[in-house]
Amino acid sequence: MLKLFNTLTRKKEEFTPLVKNRVGIYSCGPTVYDFAHIGNLRAFLFADILKRTLLYNGFEVKHIMNITDVGHLTGDRDMGTDKLEQAAREKQKSAWELASYYTDAFLHDLKSLNILNADKFPKATDHIKDMIKLIEVLEKKGFTYRTTDGIYFDTGKLPDYGKLAKLDIEGLREGARVEVNPDKRSPTDFALWKFSPSDSKREMEWQSPWGVGFPGWHIECSAMSTKYLGQPFDIHTGGIDHIPVHHTNEIAQSEAAYGKPLANVWLHSEFVVIDETRMGKSEGNLLTLEELQKRGYSSLAYRYFALQAHYRSKLNFTWEALEGAQNALNNLYAAIAEYKEPQIGCAEFESQFLEAINDDLDTPKALAVMWEVVHSDYPGEAKLQSILQFDKVLGLSLAETRRKLLKPIPDDVEKLKNQRDKAREEKKWQLSDELRKKIKKSGYIAKDTDHGSVLSASPSPGPDEE
Ligand code: AMP
Ligand code: ZN
Repeated sequence: MLKLFNTLTRKKEEFTPLVKNRVGIYSCGPTVYDFAHIGNLRAFLFADILKRTLLYNGFEVKHIMNITDVGHLTGDRDMGTDKLEQAAREKQKSAWELASYYTDAFLHDLKSLNILNADKFPKATDHIKDMIKLIEVLEKKGFTYRTTDGIYFDTGKLPDYGKLAKLDIEGLREGARVEVNPDKRSPTDFALWKFSPSDSKREMEWQSPWGVGFPGWHIECSAMSTKYLGQPFDIHTGGIDHIPVHHTNEIAQSEAAYGKPLANVWLHSEFVVIDETRMGKSEGNLLTLEELQKRGYSSLAYRYFALQAHYRSKLNFTWEALEGAQNALNNLYAAIAEYKEPQIGCAEFESQFLEAINDDLDTPKALAVMWEVVHSDYPGEAKLQSILQFDKVLGLSLAETRRKLLKPIPDDVEKLKNQRDKAREEKKWQLSDELRKKIKKSGYIAKDTDHGSVLSASPSPGPDEE
């Protein structure tokens, strides 16, 4: 029995899909104006664990993840500039070029983290018509009003507005007196469509029944989730920061338009923090996967590191902790390379593992069960069987890495090793170092001993980093 903590009810609930055995998931995806940082990537790792857990439980999963390539403004609550347009100006590229470049980079990051691809990655800019249609429905039902800079959703018309975040609407209204947009009827109202500025030209803009402009950020998710998954659908995911504004507003629009819930279960992952500060662009403390790799850590070590915390707890990033995760992963790879071909697994641990992940995706516990298997008295073949099963959820590329580690060492790598041993005997340190790098590039590590060096396959740095 799978239990998930639903933000909407604030309870861990038994999960039952709307249609037997089939689950629809919508995950709010990245805003593609820059590389994703490892904080962002945690939100997608969490969605991946969720999806893998559902698959492990025998459900069929349809997963949609949007790509935000327009309309996400630098400020909360409809202030500031479009992140894509601003980044394009700063980098002197077109917004379209940037979106395409960073979408590719994002998909590359997902792959290197061994995150299963969504069934569809719909782009906001490909769904402008769907969004306009949805705004028209809201307009007909009297939920919209016009200001000088756009069409807004009137949150005052929705009695249960803010239910996801249990928003203190009155408090918000008081607290937001400093609101810069005096045209809004309430600070919680939000833009559905924004007009292009009159004094400058936007790159991304479209005709609409209300004038030339671009969609507000929230409307894309309402339009695309309903289009691909129907309404209601099963599970909606995102980072915890989406609760008070983005997801609250998605719910408001979709439920006002169609008079039924948007999604049954809402799941949110906590932040990655450094010294208690959230990782983020404006905080100036962000790290990318590439930076981790440059320091010699694999993407899968980051995956392992993230799995060590529950998705609803903050994940405190330190280099020491990442080092620990890399070592643990390498030890795991080394352990499974010793085992013989898999056979009937360790039933007691398999049921403990299932219990752990089905308890609101308790990955720290699931990892602990996996290590118990490694340290147990079961024969290697039984351990391997169970561990490879677990890896369907953990996604640490164990089967692939084991295969690689067991492959015989190719002749050319053996030759490089011999040349390096000779260089070391002759104290040609620079040459020896160059040869070591070449060996590493071929996927092997040369470890020096008193009697020359020993080669071992380097544990997989990730599916696409070979
Ligand atoms: P964005 O690309 O800004 O739309 O963000 C993508 C995802 O990253 C969202 O689900 C955010 O909630 C999430 N996110 C942003 N910062 C962090 C962080 N420091 N730790 C974890 N998740 C984050
Ligand atoms: Zn969204």
